[in-house]
Amino acid sequence: MIEVESKIASNFINGDWYHADSSETQPVYNPATLEKITEVAYSGEAETKRAIEGAQTAFKEWSTMPARKRSRILYKAHQLLLNDVDRLAHILTMEQGKPLKEAKGEIKSAASFVLWYAEEANRMYGEWIPASQKGKRQLVIPHPVGVVGAITPWNFPASMITRKVAPALAAGCTVVLKPAPETPLSAMEIVKIFVKAGLPKGVLNLVTGDAKEIGNALLTNHNVRLITFTGSTEVGKHLMRESANHVKKLSLELGGHAPIIIFDDADLDLAVKLSLASKFRNAGQTCICANRLYVHESVKERFTEKLIEQVKQLKVGQGTRDDVDVGPLINEQAVDKVKGHLHDAVEKGAKLVYGGDSQNTSDLNGHFYHPTVVQGTTSEMRVMNEETFGPLLPIQTFKEDKEAIDAANDTNYGLAAYVFTDSLERSYQVMEQLEYGIVGINDVFPAVAEAPFGGIKESGIGKEGGHHGLHEFVEQKFVSIGSK
Ligand code: ADP
Repeated sequence: MIEVESKIASNFINGDWYHADSSETQPVYNPATLEKITEVAYSGEAETKRAIEGAQTAFKEWSTMPARKRSRILYKAHQLLLNDVDRLAHILTMEQGKPLKEAKGEIKSAASFVLWYAEEANRMYGEWIPASQKGKRQLVIPHPVGVVGAITPWNFPASMITRKVAPALAAGCTVVLKPAPETPLSAMEIVKIFVKAGLPKGVLNLVTGDAKEIGNALLTNHNVRLITFTGSTEVGKHLMRESANHVKKLSLELGGHAPIIIFDDADLDLAVKLSLASKFRNAGQTCICANRLYVHESVKERFTEKLIEQVKQLKVGQGTRDDVDVGPLINEQAVDKVKGHLHDAVEKGAKLVYGGDSQNTSDLNGHFYHPTVVQGTTSEMRVMNEETFGPLLPIQTFKEDKEAIDAANDTNYGLAAYVFTDSLERSYQVMEQLEYGIVGINDVFPAVAEAPFGGIKESGIGKEGGHHGLHEFVEQKFVSIGSK
């Protein structure tokens, strides 16, 4: 068991921990038991303003520090994260709910971003452009953007932070972080690790509390030069609109509605295993998780049979138990949304093949919903258009490749799409035609530190991961030098 104080000073501003100015608090609950874990600071504008000032002051020294020195601090933080995987995973599971094995995986993934950007910090190269006029010198100098406002969600409370904070720090930016109210404890632990690794005061600040007020304080402050956000498309659009006032840079990872297409030549065992992993990991609360599945009609029966066999094996329960595969959803509204999508689909003619309300888990106290599968869905159903963010898998059939690709693309979202096929030619065709920022072919785990992750259309702008992720935090200054 992890011991947590009943009231925590969760704001980290310019090197010190603080309660809210008003002493107001907000509770943090364990979604698997509904027990209150602790209370953290419920802060707003004044605390955020001080955090921005701290970050602005720290920027001068941090941005001019040799990249190697910044890199060394990140290396150290990476090591400290790995040394502490078990404890950090317990904290994550306690406030977020996911099974411990997934939480450990997330902490390792969070650490992998810190390692990657420890390396990338040393590779922030500029350019020397040959001039068309004699004697002229033309240089492109990379320059850190400045103070960054980072707003993160609860579904990956550790890796969504390091995926933003590590490249920002590597580039020489300073940060004011606002985590999701549901999961402030993981955010605090990550901040403590960076501090232990040697981060100077003011470089990384943390403010918990009123999302709108903190968001507004970041948006209306001219010194915040970039907002990096992962969350809903609705809030992303709001941040984009408000950022216009100062022409702030933006990096947005928003919602998704990932299709999985299973062609008739697919390895069905692989398709079943990975569809299951994609849909039910984190209880379906992942922006790149499969939201809808299109299976070729000739393999539908075999695929569905194998899939249901495996869905039946999934153990639902508290994430701290070793044998659990699917933890709770984050809150009551999340459970209601899954039910709403299921009822809408069934009312409009879909067939419930496994799970549903009656399967559900009266022996558990938390916000649980059992893995559920429906068949015979159509494009009119909510589940085929809106993000479900829960363990409900709709299955639809298709005859022609074009029909599946058109259906997959028929959405305003464009984050991730997956395909199962053993044909190289088909892989090329589909990869080129799918309108998504990420395409997985016989793969559903595309979020890695070394590669760019990000959506197109209303799923966002900008990339996280890879060398691309560093560039979000860098301005290119062009210097043109004449000669006499
Ligand atoms: P979700 O519905 O999955 O919680 P949100 O987009 O509401 O997704 O939340 C993602 C993050 O954005 C959280 O940290 C949340 O507190 C924050 N947030 C929500 N509304 C605002 C806002 N108006 N301004 C700034 N941040 C916000």
